[in-house]
Amino acid sequence: MGGFAVMSGAAVLTIDNLTVAYDRHPAVHHVSGTFAAGSLTAIAGPNGAGKSTLLKAIIGDIKVSEGRISHRLKRTEFGYLPQAADINRRFPISVLETVLLGAWKTAGAFGNIGTGDETRAKEALATVGLAGFERRPIGALSAGQFQRVLFARLLMQDASVILLDEPFTAIDARTTRDLLQIVTNWHGEGRTVVAVLHDFDQVRGHFPETLLMARELIAWGPTPHAMSPTNLMRARMMAERWDETGDVCEPTT
Ligand code: ADP
Ligand code: MG
Repeated sequence: MGGFAVMSGAAVLTIDNLTVAYDRHPAVHHVSGTFAAGSLTAIAGPNGAGKSTLLKAIIGDIKVSEGRISHRLKRTEFGYLPQAADINRRFPISVLETVLLGAWKTAGAFGNIGTGDETRAKEALATVGLAGFERRPIGALSAGQFQRVLFARLLMQDASVILLDEPFTAIDARTTRDLLQIVTNWHGEGRTVVAVLHDFDQVRGHFPETLLMARELIAWGPTPHAMSPTNLMRARMMAERWDETGDVCEPTT
């Protein structure tokens, strides 16, 4: 317990006045706040609120337009699960090979995958309920089974900060329950976990902290406060405005 939270509660990731724009149209607009080491945070907000963009900016996959994101982590110390639409499942590799990709952190892109890694990958598959699926091609799996494989890969990667983009959207109830348990376990181990979620019951039931955004930050803090009816109403109203105005961000400096 607590192996990852060297100083539990200290900021592991700080966001300062962050704006991320696509062709000058801001998807994330002047957002500031911190993720504490060992925190478990939901990111909520309407479609198009900039949630996926925020995660991509954090892992460094997308350019920051203004402001900054500060942390002391290497790219490989982030575990990242992209939104399903961004994942190509026609790639002809097996379940075991997919999980072993999580070992690249230690092996390096051209390093050798050892038998120890293979043992760990099989253990990770057993943890997500897929023992015996090692040789199946990933294209032959159901959506729920494939999501279990991606969680096994995250287990394999053993990251201290884990970012999940809509991990349970279009996933069956049983798989969701099992994978939510893994998220809870990660939190118990002291990892910092952030998940974009649509299901408010999941947020309220399992996530102590919530970041509610609608391009701008609406609220960031303890879930009961962040997800208050007033805040949710504000998020909805801001989303309705986007349809009417094509806002453009001018640098403030
Ligand atoms: P969310 O994940 O909250 O639904 P996104 O971060 O995916 O929101 O998108 C936020 C806004 O940025 C949306 O208006 C979306 O259309 C726009 N957007 C996202 N990705 C791109 C892109 N690659 N190019 C241009 N606009 C984009
Ligand atoms: Mg998204």
